[in-house]
Amino acid sequence: MKTPPRVALLRGVNVGKAKRIAMADLKLDELRVVYPGTRRYSLGPKIDVVPLQQAVNGRTLPDKHKVYQPIMMKVMATEGAKLAERNVAVNASFQSTDYWAPDAWARGKLDLTILREKSAVTMDWKTGKPKADSDQLMLAAGLTFAVHPAVEKVRTGYVWLAYDKIETDVYTRADIPFIWQEFVPRVKRMEDALANDKWPKKPSGLCSKWCPVPKSLCQYSGKEG
Ligand code: SF4
Repeated sequence: MKTPPRVALLRGVNVGKAKRIAMADLKLDELRVVYPGTRRYSLGPKIDVVPLQQAVNGRTLPDKHKVYQPIMMKVMATEGAKLAERNVAVNASFQSTDYWAPDAWARGKLDLTILREKSAVTMDWKTGKPKADSDQLMLAAGLTFAVHPAVEKVRTGYVWLAYDKIETDVYTRADIPFIWQEFVPRVKRMEDALANDKWPKKPSGLCSKWCPVPKSLCQYSGKEG
């Protein structure tokens, strides 16, 4: 299968510096500089200037999601290189590794990272009802620090699209040990379960609607069979 090109969107006047970070850190094939104007033009080999409206325009959103466009525009107007839909991973030493690498210890998908020289914003688009879940934000921060070694501060958050609401937490590099301390015991439990082929049931609010295990195997499931 053909590998899609690595592309970043970038906004702001300090294009030179952000461009260097984005291109080097991420081995990009193309860079798109987002600006509030209306004309698309080239800034050099593999660098295009794209109107902001076009970067998040209605043509790329299905009709039912066009209502989310204003809040998406607000997020996308934040200054920095925009890196979308990335699969990232860390190894057991909490260093960045390839998503499918054999040493991948924790994997995650980052919906949107807005990267600046020393800081980053990592956002998760949510279409459901707002609810508290700081674990995912913490994991996103840990992964962002691993993938971008120059970043000192990460703001992670949820964009509650249907509620026009954004919630964020802030982490610094000093928080990295605390972040991974949260996840190490959970991974250990999974490793033990795999080693011993023992899978204790863990009922949660997701069981009845989302678990593919049939009722015949687990009383908490909502799936017939
Ligand atoms: S329904 Fe699925 S997720 Fe819930 S406890 Fe049973 S097996 Fe686990």
